[in-house]
Amino acid sequence: MSLTGITSYLRPGTLEEAWALLGEQALAVGGGTDVIRHSYTGVTALVDLGALPLRYLRQDGGFAVGATATLTDMLEHPGLAAHLDGVMAGMLRGVGSPLLRNAATIGGHLARGRYSDVVPVLLALGATVALFDGTERTLALADYYREGGHRRRDLITEVGIPAAGADTAAAFLKFTRVAFDFALLNVAVLVRRDVAGKVSECRVAVGETPGLAALVGPAADCLLGRTLADEHLAAAADIAAGEIPAQDDQRASADYRRALCRVGVRRCLADARRRLEDGPR
Ligand SMILES: Cc1cc2nc3c(=O)[nH]c(=O)nc-3n(C[C@H](O)[C@H](O)[C@H](O)COP(=O)(O)OP(=O)(O)OC[C@H]3O[C@@H](n4cnc5c(N)ncnc54)[C@H](O)[C@@H]3O)c2cc1C
Repeated sequence: MSLTGITSYLRPGTLEEAWALLGEQALAVGGGTDVIRHSYTGVTALVDLGALPLRYLRQDGGFAVGATATLTDMLEHPGLAAHLDGVMAGMLRGVGSPLLRNAATIGGHLARGRYSDVVPVLLALGATVALFDGTERTLALADYYREGGHRRRDLITEVGIPAAGADTAAAFLKFTRVAFDFALLNVAVLVRRDVAGKVSECRVAVGETPGLAALVGPAADCLLGRTLADEHLAAAADIAAGEIPAQDDQRASADYRRALCRVGVRRCLADARRRLEDGPR
């Protein structure tokens, strides 16, 4: 970011104050790791959200993560790190570097709406976001992106992650060219099984297609009422590969992304099945 046009650095103490300050010329800043990399025409003020009382992580069945909690706060929270056999912590360890995770906030991460390993996992886990635009409301993270919420000025105040029982497992896979890299494609799944061993709830999220991650409903729906037999996993993976809006970019072709998606969905579902059968590692 070019800081030459910035004439004010503001640090409000309440949400109402922060909201009143934001506008065409004033940009919210969480950890600033993304803001610093871009140029914003006409922006003259930065509104640092760091003084708001939003840096918390509460566990009460599920989890409530305040918007200015950092990715490190999430990685180091014992309950969240253990949740669903560590799917969130495993993913977070692959996000950038420790220094980046120490600064990056979950609110800033979700609001930027691009290049993300966090979004597919939160979509698969059925996360919600709480927003503030003068009044508060909560909606499913999937709806937030579907409605283009990340292109509006609304402040993210909290992320909700639902509780999950021992009948539920999740898995995440990130394909990269080198260890420290954005994904060529990433996949996250959540599977819940009933006492008869049939799938009663399933979500499949695929990201970096190269668009932002989204749920692939038909891939998940085809497993409902079925067992996690290999042929059913392969069928879901084929559907996902056909459904994702894969496109070419400088990092991968659409065809390669579809191939990665097929492999990734099958592996994630098999990993979730193993976790259900063997229990936490
Ligand atoms: C070198 C590097 C490597 C990276 N590697 C990865 C990776 O491997 N995987 C991955 O998933 N990500 C990766 N990232 C992305 C990184 O996770 C994000 O830059 C970071 O999470 C953004 O959070 P932040 O708090 O710094 O956002 P900021 O830079 O503060 O803000 C980002 C955007 O969100 C807005 N904003 C901030 N907070 C809020 C809020 N509470 N409500 C509404 N809007 C808000 C800002 O106005 C801005 O538009 C990488 C980034 C870098 C620089």
